[in-house]
Amino acid sequence: MLNKIKIMIIEDEDAISNFVATTLKANTYAPLVAKTASEALSMIPSHCPDLVLLDLGLPDMDGIEILKKIREWSSTPVIVVSARGEESDKVEALDLGADDYIAKPFGTSELLARIRTALRHSMKNTSGVTTTDVFRTKGLVIDFDKRLVSVEGKDVHLTQIEFKIVSLLAKSAGRVLTYDFIITELWGPYAVKDNQILRVNMANIRRKLEKNPASPEYIFTEVGVGYRMVDEP
Ligand code: CA
Repeated sequence: MLNKIKIMIIEDEDAISNFVATTLKANTYAPLVAKTASEALSMIPSHCPDLVLLDLGLPDMDGIEILKKIREWSSTPVIVVSARGEESDKVEALDLGADDYIAKPFGTSELLARIRTALRHSMKNTSGVTTTDVFRTKGLVIDFDKRLVSVEGKDVHLTQIEFKIVSLLAKSAGRVLTYDFIITELWGPYAVKDNQILRVNMANIRRKLEKNPASPEYIFTEVGVGYRMVDEP
């Protein structure tokens, strides 16, 4: 029998957990549903899910608190599911070790894409395989070792900082990186968390990479949260 990937859905709204469970089953995943935080925390150690979908608004505990508890002992990928307008919660969850987030209402293709990305990154991390030296997506090629970037075969000249930003996003392609995370990676933990510097750099990067910087194909803005590099062949 096929060993199915187990995905735990922590969600108090039946309509949503039923929809997600049905979608997962149809795509050969094995869903497990927990309606409360306490149920989830007792189920996780015995079922060892491969991935957790975590609703932030639960009746008995803040979803953020569950995330903290999970992260005390497990690196299982966690995708936070949040209602619209909870940007600060999303950012907090990502900075506390959530792998990604998805905003309600979401469609099946978006949900499945997020799950595939999170599972792929977690497998890469556990198997010890280093990331490839070249990143390719939709005509964009980044050679990390040679520090070369090209779009549709044409070389693109990025400054050192711009290259670092693009590389960081490419190495986590498909996942959102928060503004604070990017600033810390680039300028260190004591850097002033000033998103403006990042926005200026991103505007320059887009001008160099994108055909239409106002409607980017490669790097998307997640409003109030951060940036995400496209993850397509
Ligand atoms: Ca809820």
